[in-house]
Amino acid sequence: MVAGLDEKLEPIFQDVLRRNPGETEFHQAVREVLETLGPVLVKYPELADQKIIQRICEPERQIIFRVPWQDDRGQIQINRAFRVEFNSALGPYKGGMRFHPSVYLGIIKFLGFEQIFKNALTGLPIGGGKGGSDFDPKGKSDAEIMRFCQSLMTELYRHIGEHTDVPAGDIGVGGREIGYLFGQYKRITNRYESGVLTGKGLAWGGSRARTEATGYGAIFFLEEMLKVRGDSIEGKTCIVSGSGNVAIYAIEKAQALGARVIACSDSNGVVVDRDGIDLALLKQIKEVERRRLSAYVQEKTGATYLEDGCIWNVPCEVALPCATQNELTAKDAQMLVKNGCIAVAEGANMPTTPEGIHVLMDAGVAFGPGKAANAGGVATSALEMQQNASRDSWSFEHTEQRLKEIMVNIHRNCYETSEEFDSKGNYVVGANIAGFLKVGHAMAALGL
Ligand code: GLU
Repeated sequence: MVAGLDEKLEPIFQDVLRRNPGETEFHQAVREVLETLGPVLVKYPELADQKIIQRICEPERQIIFRVPWQDDRGQIQINRAFRVEFNSALGPYKGGMRFHPSVYLGIIKFLGFEQIFKNALTGLPIGGGKGGSDFDPKGKSDAEIMRFCQSLMTELYRHIGEHTDVPAGDIGVGGREIGYLFGQYKRITNRYESGVLTGKGLAWGGSRARTEATGYGAIFFLEEMLKVRGDSIEGKTCIVSGSGNVAIYAIEKAQALGARVIACSDSNGVVVDRDGIDLALLKQIKEVERRRLSAYVQEKTGATYLEDGCIWNVPCEVALPCATQNELTAKDAQMLVKNGCIAVAEGANMPTTPEGIHVLMDAGVAFGPGKAANAGGVATSALEMQQNASRDSWSFEHTEQRLKEIMVNIHRNCYETSEEFDSKGNYVVGANIAGFLKVGHAMAALGL
């Protein structure tokens, strides 16, 4: 079903399997990149001589640590946390922290690996890293979240810094968590080092448009893909999986550009609202009240809730997977194609399985892989670092304009690279090769 590996790349992949047993998501992410790199080694044999691929697949540093904390009943809880500092050829390690019970080393490594190429594509000086914990924020009180974040930072602080490693949010980590983490870093180090974390609140060093950036960026990328096909997002029926930060702002920008977004989801079910998702209500439920998505139908007549439903069965022209990895399978992809879907842009990281990507691309669906389509979040984090370094604060309009330019450039770079490597319009090939070349050339220049 999925493509075979080049004979030079197969042993490299086998080595990754052997050295990282059981880390299936990491294997998947590595394989997807290696599948596209065969022609690169032919064109740039010096990168093969320098063993750049083997070096890129091995993180520079992996930190695993214990996070003890006390819950509201006074019971002691123990979680495990990770920070994988994957590649610093282009700048300080940069990438989010994910708090979710599914987190283990293999998830953080897949995310960190993706981050290397994504960050390279932004054109900004940031390396790749990722972290997280198996802590489950669901149902925890605000005080518990604070104690957990403080305990985590009590170890993490020694590994990070504005020139070293700059964490941010991901699933389960938003502005509130970044606040508690930053507060503890400041307390321990006695330094107001704004650039040590991104995704901060506006009053204390955050950037305007950072909250919106990943979702907006995915829509800007989608717009560019549609433009190439002489089409636009206006009037398109869209579905957006998830209902967290990425999904909410993808919906907001899609609606602003005239799309009709009729469905979104969470891990319990799917909301279908043929009038178009009521964004103010969605924000109230998810951002203010922190409730489950099922609350939407209690507040809005005419909307339906499909418990345990599959969002990809809802007919649409554009699908935006904005929830989590491997949420869109081959079967889902077949359903999308059957129902007339013409474009998929990944707001989440690796949400489409390799078989799913194959089905979509075979059917001629425009497919924007996460490492290109969702790069707007980390790109705006890099803009936050710029503002922090110059002790400045830009307007929303200026920051959004920068984000838009970055997404247009990423699209162009991916498209032109796909053309150069005889895969015109294949953004998987374009994103992987363009990202790899930037990091690879930098690594070669920096020596062993
Ligand atoms: N977690 C986001 C991502 O997957 C953002 C990371 C950041 O801003 O550093 O790219």
